[in-house]
Formats: sequence, structure tokens, C-alpha cells
Amino acid sequence: MKIPKKVTVAGVVLRVEWADMEGKWGDYDNDKHLIRLSKSLKKEKPDMAVATLLHEMVHASLRLTGVSEVLGDDNEEAVAVNIECIYLPAVEKLLVDRD
Ligand SMILES: [Zn+2]
Repeated sequence: MKIPKKVTVAGVVLRVEWADMEGKWGDYDNDKHLIRLSKSLKKEKPDMAVATLLHEMVHASLRLTGVSEVLGDDNEEAVAVNIECIYLPAVEKLLVDRD
């Protein structure tokens, strides 16, 4: 899957950019409505780029709706990892099996 330059979460358009990053594959800046993905993903782990984009979109959804304020940083990360690694694959399988 090609990584889009923009995604929409909770009705907000978020820019998606490749960036030189150390020690992480992506992040989300709620003030700038910006998701950054590590350039190293593009070269070394292209399949992980999509997973990382989905993960950062979860962070965006939690921040844009104020849920992250209730969760705190550690719980927010746990929720983001759970949705990325457990929930989204289950939804994908459901949609594929439906046809
Ligand atoms: Zn995260």
C-alpha cells in the first residue's frame, strides 16, 4: 500500500510526512495535525510503514477526541498498540471473510 500524504481522522485532515527519526518509527503532533513516519521504514521495513501509520492514526483519534487526557501517556500507548495489533487485524479478517 502506498502511504498517502494526507489522512482524515475525526473529520480532521492530517498531513503525513517522512522524516529522519532516531529511536522510533513514527509520531503524531496534535498541534500541527502531523503524522511523521521514519524514513528508515521506507527503506528497510515498508510493510511496517502501514502499521505505523495506523498506529499513529489511533494516537490522533485519541488526542482529537480528548480520550488521551483520560488515559495518560502509558495507557494511551497500550490502547494504540492493542488497536493496531489486535483490533485492526480482526476487522481486516472480518471484512475479507465477509465476501
Ligand atoms: Zn504509540
